[in-house]
Amino acid sequence: MLKNRSLIEPLDLSQDEMNDLFTMAEKIEAAPMEWHDRQRGKLLATLFFEPSTRTRLSFEAAMQRLGGSCLGFAESGSSSAVKGECLADTIRIVAGYADIIVMRNPKEGAALVASRYSEVPVINAGDGGHHHPTQTLTDLLTIKRLRGKIGDMTVGFCGDLRFGRTVHSLVEALARYSGIRMIFISPQELTVPDYLKSRISRDTENPGYIETDSLDKVLDQLDILYMTRVQKERFFNEEDYIRLKDSYILTPEKMKMAKNDMMILHPLPRVNEISLEVDSDPRAMYFKQARLGMFVRMALLSSILE
Ligand code: ASP
Repeated sequence: MLKNRSLIEPLDLSQDEMNDLFTMAEKIEAAPMEWHDRQRGKLLATLFFEPSTRTRLSFEAAMQRLGGSCLGFAESGSSSAVKGECLADTIRIVAGYADIIVMRNPKEGAALVASRYSEVPVINAGDGGHHHPTQTLTDLLTIKRLRGKIGDMTVGFCGDLRFGRTVHSLVEALARYSGIRMIFISPQELTVPDYLKSRISRDTENPGYIETDSLDKVLDQLDILYMTRVQKERFFNEEDYIRLKDSYILTPEKMKMAKNDMMILHPLPRVNEISLEVDSDPRAMYFKQARLGMFVRMALLSSILE
């Protein structure tokens, strides 16, 4: 289906291709053993120049559940990057060892560069504050699974909308569906970039977006609340991070204002922005979301490698 294709940005996939992946992910989830040796003999390289828990481990779990194997590194300090090797050389070498590469890198555009030097497909697992397309697949699959469809809903994005790459990717992908109203909730310093806002059309089918710095004012309107952490590693100075890090904290008290069927999503890791007591609220879907990420990554790997 996606044979030998790289995935750098969410819009590299058409809506139909995404839907096919969601259908495949649901089939895998329903009968995982039927997929246990589909990628036997294939090798996935995970090159993580930035920290990760879910993305790396869910890709490795996905490949191993498909019968394939993994190699790679979890921090740039253990690769030749510290000796000064350039990305292009690392990629050319790894592409000679593995059948597919998943890479996370702190530089925006690094995944695109990697795909140009690689003889095997490259999946972007996050390039700086730019994009994170497989988190978007995870987010959309979760919405589809739990709401039955993607569309006709108000989605609130809350927190660091400036540096949060998962927000950037999800906004671009959601802008293609109809009946999506977006509410961007952030402090003034962390508003969503203008280039993204310009891609959200306003017409009869699409109510467009509004911006606010108050979660309380809009919480009762939301069908989905996409919480994010303030991206410490993208700040130039510690002082600004400390000032902004606790701008929003979702508590059981605040959840009283939300709709009874509002879904709380979070790409994780959570730092302080959702209090632990909210985890037992049936509207908290972030752990379920993380698990679905493994199935959609199994579907993606199968689809590219088949
Ligand atoms: N895990 C997500 C990412 O890599 C979200 C985050 O780190 O806040 O972008």
